[in-house]
Formats: sequence, structure tokens, C-alpha cells
Amino acid sequence: MVEVTDVVCSLCGCVCDDIVLEVENNEIVKVKKGACSVGKAKLLGHERIKSPAIRENGELRECSYDEAIKKAAEILYKSRRSLLYGWSSTVCEAHKVGVELTEDLGAVMDNTASVCHGPSVLAINDVGLPSCTLGEVKNRADLIIYWGANPAQAHANHMKRYSYVSKGYWTEEGKKGKKMVVVDVRKTMTAKMADVFVQIKQGKDYQVFSALRAILRGHEDVVPDEVGGVPKEQLLEVANMVKESKFVMTFFGMGVTHTGARHNNIVNAIQFTRAAHLHTKASIMPLRGHYNVAGINQVCTWETGFPFAIDMSRGYAWYNPGEQSATDLLYRGDCDAAMIIASDPGAHFPGESLKHLAKIPVIQIDPYANPTTEFADVVIPAAVSGIEAEGNVYRMDNVPIRLRKILDTDYLPDEEILQRILTEIRAMREKEGE
Ligand code: SF4
Repeated sequence: MVEVTDVVCSLCGCVCDDIVLEVENNEIVKVKKGACSVGKAKLLGHERIKSPAIRENGELRECSYDEAIKKAAEILYKSRRSLLYGWSSTVCEAHKVGVELTEDLGAVMDNTASVCHGPSVLAINDVGLPSCTLGEVKNRADLIIYWGANPAQAHANHMKRYSYVSKGYWTEEGKKGKKMVVVDVRKTMTAKMADVFVQIKQGKDYQVFSALRAILRGHEDVVPDEVGGVPKEQLLEVANMVKESKFVMTFFGMGVTHTGARHNNIVNAIQFTRAAHLHTKASIMPLRGHYNVAGINQVCTWETGFPFAIDMSRGYAWYNPGEQSATDLLYRGDCDAAMIIASDPGAHFPGESLKHLAKIPVIQIDPYANPTTEFADVVIPAAVSGIEAEGNVYRMDNVPIRLRKILDTDYLPDEEILQRILTEIRAMREKEGE
């Protein structure tokens, strides 16, 4: 038995990097410390896709990697406009090959940000982001605001490692010296732990941010007795907490990005943070879901100039979310093949978009079967990044972290699968040119 320390969890955007495992006979037998229950379940492993497969007469037939990769290359080569979607649960090295493949095919590349924090990315494009690292939050923040987010259930280690419960250089008392405000439409598990719970009406985030901005800027007289279901008294209480704190940190989730004013909610959240700067130090950060959704935004931006929904059909990168984002493209029936990697649109996309996805040839690259497998025409199993394959990822605060390989496997890493598909496509093109 070998003890492996400083293991990184490749599940959620917290990317916890202090996990201790016991490994015996090339198997993780125990997660000794560091991981939350979902992280633990991933590290201990569960049902995998056993073999590459190709759908024939409605059934998946097991085949070799060579055959599945060749079939995937054929589908993409014949396609006039393909969609390459997913990318948030794999490493940046795979993203880089993905961009090359997209460019080679003149395809559309989109990632899961377009159905989660895409509005946040648009807001940041508009007005920037006064943000910081999670290390700064741990060491400095004495007021934590979670807005439209439920980390107690979605990012189980977040409060313990980085925010409300953590102890840092200037926050050595931990929770005792901190306050937490939760803003949400319902009393979540996180809200139950808060010093102040602000229950707002669904879709009224924009108005509540505006009211807080007005108070922080000294215009409380213009704020009515109630805004978005929140009494003025409580808005004044929260504004006072902001003014009296040394460092305010706001984390926001999809409860804000996908309601009411959408990306303008986030613009207003950022302006609320700037208004807090009149009184104290303040910072803001999206609570990113998948462990490397921040990484795919990074790679796409440095390779193409844009973070998601990138169309390469013109021979250069074209960006117009709402037109080239995956759900819109599928809704309009505007692609004739799809490659889904490290994500599950089958479980998360709207029905109308899925109808088209079910009609066109679909290639799936993933370690695990999911609802997308049910209609995939080519299924290519991959090594699990952070357990069976190494690579770089970006934590939710855009700090890069290296995932290590812990176990040996016969499964191929995503990067190699993509590179082999690209090589096949280039060989097909060369052959046709002859
Ligand atoms: S909080 Fe997230 S990254 Fe940390 S152990 Fe749990 S699932 Fe893994």
C-alpha cells in the first residue's frame, strides 16, 4: 500500500489539492483526507464505459480504439458544419488540440460556460472583474456574500478551504471573526448557516443590486420600502455590514446568471462591488462548476480571442453567443454532426435542441456513460484526468493547477484521442487531394 499526498480532485471548480489517498495494486482503496463526499466518490471510481463502440442498427457494437477513432474522423470529415461541444471536465492540453481540430474543420466550438456562467463572461467582457485569488479570500475576507449559489451542496469544501470557515493570515479566528450573508430565492443549506439570509423574489437580483449600490453611494433616500421582496431595513443592514467590514467577498452562482436580466445582473453585481470600494476593500468571483470550465475559457481566449461559442467556418474566429452557442445552433438545426467531449448535453440541454442532436451523427468522448451515450453513434472512452492522466486545469479563480496521474490504465487520454482524430482527418484530406 502506498500513501499518495497532495492529490488534486478533478470534479468541481474548487480543485482541492490537498487530498491524501491510499493506493494498492493500481487501485485507490481509501481517501484518507481532504475530499468532500462527491470528490471521494469520484476518486474511488464508479461504472466506466468499457470499450469503444459504434452504433449499428440501433445498438452499440464494441470495437477497437482504431475503428472508433476512424469512424469519428469520417463523420467529422464528411460534415459541412460540425459542433464540438463540452470541454469543461478535461485538461487544457486537450482543449488546445480541440481548437486545432475546430480550425481544421471550420467547425463551431462551444463549451459548457454557454449554459452556466456564459452571462458572467459577457458581463466581464463589458465591464471587467475586480477579483482576486481564493488565497486572498482565505487570508483577508471577513464578510462573505453568496448570491444565487449553494456551495454547501454544490462546492462542499468551498467554505472550509477558502471562505467562511477557513482560517488565514489575517483571519486566524476563522468563522468567529467573519460574517456571512446569503441572498437567494429559497432557504438553501448554505442560507441556513448564514448570519443574514436575504430572501429575494425570483428574477429580482438586478433591482436588489441597484438598491444596495444606491445605499452604498449615499442615496438611500431613493430606495423604496421594499425592493425585490426585500424590506429596506434589511438592505440597510447588509449595506452597513459591507461598510463595516475590512474585506467583502461576493461569490455568485447560476441563480444570478440565468434569471431576469441575465448578464446585466452580473454587470450590476460588479458595479455593486465597485460601490463597496467607496468604503472598504471588495472583490467578486463567479462560483464555477466543472473543475476546468475556467480552463476552457482561458484556452479558447488565448487561442482564438474569444471564450466560448466560437465559429471557425469563415476561416477565422467569429463570436456571437446566442447565434453560435450550442443550444441555439442545435435549435436552428444549423449543424450536421456533433462531437461531445467531457460533458452531458443529453441531461442538460433544452428538449428542442436535443431533438436535432438526436437526428445527427454524434461522437461521444467521456470516461463515463451518461444520457448522451443513449443516442451517440460513436462512443470513445477516455482516461479520467487527475487519476489516470495528467494535465493543467484552471481553478475557479483562474489559478492554474497541475493534475497528476495516479493510476496506470489502458484507456487513452482525451488529448491523444483528439490528436488521433485530427491526424486521421488530415490523412483523409490528403488522400482525397491525390
Ligand atoms: S469540493 Fe469539489 S474539488 Fe473539492 S473535493 Fe469536493 S468535489 Fe472535489
